Amino acid sequence: MSGAPFRDEVTDLLQRLIRVDTTNPPGNETAAAELLRDYLEANAVACELIARVPERANLVARIPGGDGPSLLLLSHTDVVLADPAEWSVPPFSGELIDGEVWGRGALDMKGEVAASAVAIASLARDGFRPSGDLIFAATADEEVGDDFGLSWLCREHPDSVRCDFAINEGGGERLVLADGSAIYEATAAEKKTAPFRIHVRGRSGHASMPGIADNALVKAATLIERLASFRPEPQLDPELEGFLRAVLGEVPPLHEAVDRTRALTGAGADMVEALLGATFSPTIISASQKRNVIPALCIVEVDCRLLPGQHPEHVDPMIRAVLGTDVDYELEWLEAEGGTRSSLDTPLWRALEEWVAATEPGARAAPLCGAGFTDSHWLREAFGTVAYGFFPMTGALTPEEAALLIHSADERIPVSDLELGVAWMRHAARSVLG
Ligand SMILES: [Zn+2]
Repeated sequence: MSGAPFRDEVTDLLQRLIRVDTTNPPGNETAAAELLRDYLEANAVACELIARVPERANLVARIPGGDGPSLLLLSHTDVVLADPAEWSVPPFSGELIDGEVWGRGALDMKGEVAASAVAIASLARDGFRPSGDLIFAATADEEVGDDFGLSWLCREHPDSVRCDFAINEGGGERLVLADGSAIYEATAAEKKTAPFRIHVRGRSGHASMPGIADNALVKAATLIERLASFRPEPQLDPELEGFLRAVLGEVPPLHEAVDRTRALTGAGADMVEALLGATFSPTIISASQKRNVIPALCIVEVDCRLLPGQHPEHVDPMIRAVLGTDVDYELEWLEAEGGTRSSLDTPLWRALEEWVAATEPGARAAPLCGAGFTDSHWLREAFGTVAYGFFPMTGALTPEEAALLIHSADERIPVSDLELGVAWMRHAARSVLG
């Protein structure tokens, strides 16, 4: 075999995984788990199907090691709905067209499932003896989160997924800077989703005579504007510091960070902006249900994302100071979720930096705090796992193109990215467990 020893193997496995329809709901991930079990057992990797209900199994496989640290290659097998009418090819056909595998889940995230499976299978064939367990978990129900997948495993079967290190989805984009050099993003933390509602009260009345009422919707507009224009005091967290060092080579004064980054990368500048602090996006509003009735109550729902370590009780006073005291309102926090981080001073981070530098001379790894929730949170919360989102992309598909395809029509992944993913996982295992 020439320079691409795993190309056909990983391509074939991904095609077969895409052809198993695991649209969640209902999921039916057991069919995907069985396919993976057959593939892994044929490569002498021991497997276990662990299921809360029979049709929604999680697959956990491992090469047992000694007392050393353990590494988990984590992925999920469920996918989101695909409407065939919007697609150029049937979404569950798994066709290989011009070096790309097409189908629902190619990017999110059966591509990484396949690459992780090939990595552990090929290491088993190599006779790899890890110093601690090398684990592969392809879990159910990440997209909906009804507690059939990793959250349930962490709670009910913790020994199956307990690990010191984990590699998951949520990073790996290759950004090319204006100076021609490249950075590879790796997600080391996640913001906390902490939505809240603002209830603004007034007095109802007939809309034909505004003077007799006190319009809660109009009062809410003032609060919405104050919130939308608010920028909290910037904060230098480890991910931001590492990102700025990778992109700019230094950490500038924080009020210059966005502009300095924008000069090199527009997409990177938007990320820096979100990493500087909490964000507040008013997204839902409800008031009167009748046009001729002035509302006595207006409810504004705000999508709020906090930095890891920030909590609603810390930002509550800040939000009240922004909203002011001249409009009557009540603030109601909804359920917060996520908001965990992993250290960057770890063997897995060093393996990642080494691998990036060796794979593309001149390229650097850049840590990020993701704005969305991933299953990494459950591992960090349950076991203090060091979990990073990193599935590297070659750039054959740009990050902008990939972002438009995830959860959308014509989702596809270049075979070159699958190969790169296998190479990264194998390097990580050898480096951390070697
Ligand atoms: Zn996903």
